[in-house]
Amino acid sequence: MSEKNMGKEMLEKLSYKKKNVYEEASAEKIKAIYDYADGYMKYLDNAKTEREAVDYSISLAKSYGYTEYHLGDKVCVGDKKYYNNHGKALMLFKVGENDLEKDGIRIIASHIDSPRLDLKQVPMYEDSGMGFLKTHYYGGIKKYQWTAIPLALHGVMVKKDGESVNIVIGEDDKDPVFYINDLLPHLAAKQSAEALGTAISGETLNILIGGLPYNDEEVSDKIKLTALSYLYEKYGVTEEDFLSAELSLVPAFKARNVGFDGALIGAYGHDDRVCSYPALTSLFEAENSKHTALVVLADKEEVGSMGLSGMQSDVLVDLIDEISLSLGKNPRVVRRNSKCLSADVNAAYDPNFPDVYEKRNSALISCGTVMSKYTGARGKSGTSDASAEFVGFVRKLFDENGVIWQTAELGKVDAGGGGTVAMYIANHNIETVDLGVPVISMHAPYEVVSKADVYSTHEACLAFIK
Ligand code: MN
Ligand code: MN
Repeated sequence: MSEKNMGKEMLEKLSYKKKNVYEEASAEKIKAIYDYADGYMKYLDNAKTEREAVDYSISLAKSYGYTEYHLGDKVCVGDKKYYNNHGKALMLFKVGENDLEKDGIRIIASHIDSPRLDLKQVPMYEDSGMGFLKTHYYGGIKKYQWTAIPLALHGVMVKKDGESVNIVIGEDDKDPVFYINDLLPHLAAKQSAEALGTAISGETLNILIGGLPYNDEEVSDKIKLTALSYLYEKYGVTEEDFLSAELSLVPAFKARNVGFDGALIGAYGHDDRVCSYPALTSLFEAENSKHTALVVLADKEEVGSMGLSGMQSDVLVDLIDEISLSLGKNPRVVRRNSKCLSADVNAAYDPNFPDVYEKRNSALISCGTVMSKYTGARGKSGTSDASAEFVGFVRKLFDENGVIWQTAELGKVDAGGGGTVAMYIANHNIETVDLGVPVISMHAPYEVVSKADVYSTHEACLAFIK
């Protein structure tokens, strides 16, 4: 063999290169990837808020034989259970035959809340012939992106008598939609000269809800009264009921194929349903796994994971304690030997904005699920940083199961950064690493992912818990 040919062989053996999932896939595999995306897109359209994601996930779980668990219930090997945490977060688990103290629990934790516009508690007013609702945005948004697009109203109102009313307006084609006004370019000289971040302020994100005055000469605020009487007739609610309500505006778009080849999916709320869905499907598919597996669908990630439905809540430890004690095991030992994939999205490298990425360490679209050893900002601040040993363990598992995956940081050092729920789980002495799907235009009203990466994340989750 000539030295020249030897070099090619050595290069293949010694150097690292990312693989494109579509390039590596057979025609059958591409069909499987596209078929899987159909189920995911249905999930997206049925789960635009954390409450809807909980309800829809429970309906899926029930179809796989999962039944409801209450804290304190006895648990047995073979059980398939879900725990509904106040209707806003969900934990699903199946108990495997492996010794829980030796094997621990295989945990996949994702979140089901997404950036959106929440209504204020006293939201309704009218001005200059238009009715409006005041909002306070939820999570990190670029405010200018939320103007001049169709919006849908989702949520609950709890009436004076305690009855809870579900509201969804704007998803059915026959429904009206809602809207945020923006300035015409002809008069936007001053606005256009402002920085993107300040051109639209939080207090201008007011929702346009109507324009028909109530037919009575005697009353004031006639347009507001028309809106209130509509809500009263349809849902039996009054203006005071907004005080005990959680109502959000989300984009009224459906999930759609993007591109001539349909290789990509455009939708609201990929972050983080694009990890929640693979977490669920892998749990259902790993029916006969010997591991005990737990999927967490958490709320409040976009605002810091606080509160009883967020990942910082004690409920994860409570549940692990309950499962362990019920099986006669020491929960501290179980946690020590548990392993977790913190399943959340990552930024996909975007050739339109190369300045903020360091390409060698960025997620490339369609190159598979992304494992991030660490996240954080300004010198890895706020990361749990998975150990080399644990990354090695997961890497071996993926390689053995033919999962095409890649590694990445969010962007350039000092360009910004972000965090996930990983640290809150690792704080409980559970080995945790971040894994998820690369997203284009993350946190925009319409985000884009590759079907290949969604499927790869399903395969990765399955390899982890099967
Ligand atoms: Mn996320
Ligand atoms: Mn996010």
